[in-house]
Amino acid sequence: MHAQGRSAGRRCVVVQMGGCNLSCSWCDSAFTWDTSRYDLSREVGYWRIEEIAETARSANTPLIVISGGEPLQQQNSPAWPQFLEMLGGYEIGLETNGTFPPIETTLHRVSWITVSPKLAHSGDPAWTRINRDILIAWGKCAEQYDIDFSFAVRDLSDVESVLQIAKLHELPFDRIWIVPEATTAALSASRLAEVSESAIQAGFNVSARLSALTNRQS
Ligand code: SF4
Repeated sequence: MHAQGRSAGRRCVVVQMGGCNLSCSWCDSAFTWDTSRYDLSREVGYWRIEEIAETARSANTPLIVISGGEPLQQQNSPAWPQFLEMLGGYEIGLETNGTFPPIETTLHRVSWITVSPKLAHSGDPAWTRINRDILIAWGKCAEQYDIDFSFAVRDLSDVESVLQIAKLHELPFDRIWIVPEATTAALSASRLAEVSESAIQAGFNVSARLSALTNRQS
C-alpha cells in the first residue's frame, strides 16, 4: 500500500533500492543504507533486473513504486532503462529526495515522480539535502511531467520552511504535499491536525502518513 500523498492507500508493490546519499535521522528505510545499524550484506541483496521486474509483476498490482534509499543514484547505470522497459504496461511511480537531476529516460519512462526534499529536522546538513539548482530544475520539470513534491513536517515552523523553499525554488504550490513526520498513528494525527489549516491556506495539499497507522513501508 502506498503510504502518503496523492497515492495514499493505493495498492502497489514497492521496489526499494539500496543506498542513499542522505542519512535522515528518522528514515524508515535505514536498512537500505545505514551500515552503523544494519548488516547491509543481509538487508540489501544483489538482484538481476529480470528478477526484480518479475517479482514486482508477480505482485499483481497495477502500480509499481520505485523507492529506496535513493533510486536515482542508479539511473546512470546501463541497466536502468532496461529495467524501466521491463515494467512496461504498468504505472510506474518513483520516489526521490530531489538531490539528483532526472535524466531523460527517467522522465519519459516513469509515470509519475514524487520529489521529497528534506527539512532541517532530518539532521542532514542543508548543503546535502537541498541543491538549489537541482530543485529549481525539478520545479521546471513539473511544468511538463507528472511530478509532485512531498515534505515531511513536524510543526507550523516546518510549514513556513516549506513555503520559503517553494518560493525560492519556484515550485508549484498545488503540487506540494505536506505529510506529518511520525512513526505512530497518534503522532501522525496530532501533527496533521496542527499543520493542516496553515498548509491548506498556503495553497498546499495535506496527507496523513498511513505507514504510521499500519507500520508498513511506503
Ligand atoms: S532521503 Fe529518504 S531514504 Fe535517504 S535517508 Fe532520507 S528518508 Fe531515508
